[in-house]
Amino acid sequence: MLVVDAAELVTCRTTPGGARGADLDRLEVIPLGAVAIHGGRIVAVGDTATITAAYRSETVVSAAGRLVSPGLVDPHTHLVHAGSRHLEWEDLVGNRPRSIDDGIRTTFQHTAAASADVLRTRAMADLDVALHHGTTTLETKSGYGANRQVELRLLEVADSLRAHPVDVISTFFGAQVLPAEFRGRSGEFIDSVIAMLPEVAPLTEYCDVCLDPIGFSLEECTRLALAARAAGLGVRVHGDQTGHAGGAGFAADIGAASVDHLDYASEADLRKLARSSCVAVLVPGVTHHLLELVPAADGAVPAVAPKGHFPSLVAKMVELGVCIAVSTDYNPGTSPTLSMQTAMQLAARLFRLSYSQVWHMATINAAKSLGRDHDRGSLEPGKIADLVIWQVPEHGMVLNRFGTNLVDRVIKAGEVVACNPVGSAAWG
Ligand SMILES: [Zn+2]
Repeated sequence: MLVVDAAELVTCRTTPGGARGADLDRLEVIPLGAVAIHGGRIVAVGDTATITAAYRSETVVSAAGRLVSPGLVDPHTHLVHAGSRHLEWEDLVGNRPRSIDDGIRTTFQHTAAASADVLRTRAMADLDVALHHGTTTLETKSGYGANRQVELRLLEVADSLRAHPVDVISTFFGAQVLPAEFRGRSGEFIDSVIAMLPEVAPLTEYCDVCLDPIGFSLEECTRLALAARAAGLGVRVHGDQTGHAGGAGFAADIGAASVDHLDYASEADLRKLARSSCVAVLVPGVTHHLLELVPAADGAVPAVAPKGHFPSLVAKMVELGVCIAVSTDYNPGTSPTLSMQTAMQLAARLFRLSYSQVWHMATINAAKSLGRDHDRGSLEPGKIADLVIWQVPEHGMVLNRFGTNLVDRVIKAGEVVACNPVGSAAWG
């Protein structure tokens, strides 16, 4: 297959190990770009005249007047679950005390009550939505199981999703929150999660640990992470979301693949992170959905946004040279979106990031956080041919326009797997 005549082709190609610091702003853009694909892999990338002079194919896809980019990589979701939590959210918006006894535990209940078939059907439909919005690789965590039986069901469902065109990478998050029956006995709960590792390890690639004031202690997270590594799993970290717990420094020290959230990461921990290969994964959907940058209408003068420090925190990460990625953190409570486009648009707005920075974060750096930067996340010869053809001609327009799906077509491993039948205005 040849994809030709792209108004812009952004490769997201960068230095090995991911884009950091000044490299984040060096986005490679090829005008009138083309990609040659064979056997599901990229053979060559360049301008259309050069590529068409060197390669022939029976399948030629015109991207005239359109942007072509790598497929988007979503490195943090809680895809497999049941239920919705929209009712409790209205109280948050209204700045009212909670009128509904809801929260994450209802997701546990709904998920436990759902059969594997029901969970799988919903997850497959959700993957369709992610794909049609440009995602070609996605990580998903278990963690709404709270017991061995349901956790295994969630991991088996995640494993069964490989029939979908989106590549799904599975993470065991057995210690997401402390179940009520273990109150006051978190060490014993961690022991029970560690005891599950031999059974879950064949089904999954990573183990996520939560080092946060509402999560687990440094000692407990260390114990679980080391046991997970001994069982052959990589480590991911939910860190410092509700307060400083040292999650970012821990992730760097232990050699985690990623540390996600980071709302209260200290500068000393960010410096450690910058010296490590661990990727900081931002979750702008959470910041947006929980109104963390919106002052409450409670009469306080001047009203202050709960996490007004976030833009300067992210600026510090960039300045220090941390490898940063963006994700949806898709989940029913704090970020109910499957769209990486939306996550990218929010990242630019909420964290004041440039177009080039966000494009690197949603592609090559996200792939790096999943240990997949060697075969995806950028348009380079030898990589899997995961491409998005956009309805707009320039990469900045994907971030500037918001709220509608700008994808035209998605190519996964050299095949067109999604098409948006509603085209926008011609921009040519
Ligand atoms: Zn999460």
